[in-house]
Amino acid sequence: MTYGAVEAGGTKFICGIGSGPDDLRAIQIPTESPAVTIRAVIEFFRASQEPLLAIGIGSFGPVCTDPHSPLWGHITTTPKTDWRNFDLVGPIRTALGVPIGFDTDVNAAVLGEARWGAARDIESCLYLTIGTGIGGGAISSGRIVHGMSHPEMGHIRIPHDHAEDPFPGSCPYHGDCLEGLAAGPAIETRWGKPAEELPPGHPAWELEAHYLALAIANFSCTLSSERVILGGGVMRHTQLFPRIREEVASLIGGYIAIPQIVPPTLGDRAGVCGALVLAQAIKSKCD
Ligand code: ZN
Repeated sequence: MTYGAVEAGGTKFICGIGSGPDDLRAIQIPTESPAVTIRAVIEFFRASQEPLLAIGIGSFGPVCTDPHSPLWGHITTTPKTDWRNFDLVGPIRTALGVPIGFDTDVNAAVLGEARWGAARDIESCLYLTIGTGIGGGAISSGRIVHGMSHPEMGHIRIPHDHAEDPFPGSCPYHGDCLEGLAAGPAIETRWGKPAEELPPGHPAWELEAHYLALAIANFSCTLSSERVILGGGVMRHTQLFPRIREEVASLIGGYIAIPQIVPPTLGDRAGVCGALVLAQAIKSKCD
């Protein structure tokens, strides 16, 4: 049973064909203008020798995930102006004539980890990606959490001690929300160097662990996830994990159980594998 998968990111699209992480042939396509990128995506799937049953797309956002809205499948208020209000699903569905499953990239990632990765043995988990932005996807009682739209966990407010950290934050909408304080661009602007150039002993990491721990403590109190999976480029700095675990425990203060805090088992493939889960789900819905 062969499915198509797309992880649509701000810098690259990962497209894959297969049925799971052990059976996945994937390529990367740079994110250029929508016309150029979508043409390359369609060509990749057209070149497949095997007929696809469905395609799943996990996209950068915000996106419209309301199945009753005419804008379902669109990217909406992204700062990437070429892609704003772009119908991502429509041209792919028209060209390939298969059902399309659609959600955010981070909801796809949590689905991938829940099916095949770090959360395959449990019913509630949270996936946070910390990279050029911060996003979160949660599974509660075995179901992905949606609401009026999808959660935007990177934009929660956390305590910001301006004496300790005078950086005003880099979110164009909120300034010092979580993403504005702790995503890769915030680290680079605050310290004058990209995260990958900061040594493990740099004070940047203690501050980063502090902000992420505050967020995880808040999510633990609201979502009660059994496991928190931390992915994205910033989390390749694995020295963050013990610091975050220690501070989350301290912030929770013995009041409730502390979630396990782990890296993604599927690594950078969580999103594209999760897009396969979206494809399989839409196929069973159509049958
Ligand atoms: Zn924000």
